[in-house]
Amino acid sequence: MRILITTDIEGVAGVVHPEQTRPGNPDYERARRLMTQEANAAARGAFEGGAREVLIGDAHGAYRNLLPDELDPRARYVIGKPRMLGMLGGLETGCDALMLVGFHSRSLATGVLAHTINSSAFARIWLNGQELGEAGLYGALAGERGVPVILASGDDAFAVETRSILPDCRFVVTKQATGRHSAISLSPHAACEAIQTGAREAMTATGSTRPLRLKTPVQTRLQTMTPAHTDLFCQWPTLQRLDAVTLEYASDSVEHAVRVLNCLSAMAAMLR
Ligand SMILES: [Zn+2]
Repeated sequence: MRILITTDIEGVAGVVHPEQTRPGNPDYERARRLMTQEANAAARGAFEGGAREVLIGDAHGAYRNLLPDELDPRARYVIGKPRMLGMLGGLETGCDALMLVGFHSRSLATGVLAHTINSSAFARIWLNGQELGEAGLYGALAGERGVPVILASGDDAFAVETRSILPDCRFVVTKQATGRHSAISLSPHAACEAIQTGAREAMTATGSTRPLRLKTPVQTRLQTMTPAHTDLFCQWPTLQRLDAVTLEYASDSVEHAVRVLNCLSAMAAMLR
């Protein structure tokens, strides 16, 4: 079994503030170490559960957060951007199952540091009328290739939101969200133990976990944070503006839909 563990930072135990997610300060340096430890915990559980090969994907910000010299030496590390499959870099090499570590709830929802791909540009995203956050979008991208999400970790709001989208997935709750920037968190040590156990147990369910499959063609609706973002994004000729802050486009696959979103996110940098 070949497992991809894709790792974000906002759902990691002990992380609640934007400073902890942005390079350039000591809080971030500690948070990236906690993120590395949670990725390693999932890798240990995957190996204990019978994984032959583990890829650990870095999927936050510039995709250069995990500390390579502290990673489980049995795993390989997927690092850097841009890359075709965004947060799921490495999936293109062929994987049997996916684990989402350190994930968070979607933009404008409750939960610690909730956002979807780009916190300053994207307000809400629907695929075929279903509102999705990062776990749903990338769960569907993996599902299109027949790959199920077997484990997801993050705060309790993320678990509640995502359970309805990924009903067969095992969730590990690392903290209880008490606000956007506050939580009652497990200690990093306890969170890692829970993730390792969850990953080991999730491995036994790989065969019975259904991939998330959306109907194609996929209609994506995006609500932006400001009208200026929709002004900018609709320079792209095939995107259709619905109102001041909403646009739509059609895709023949989830991969196409997600890649367009990631291109729009990159374009949005010019409005900062
Ligand atoms: Zn992130």
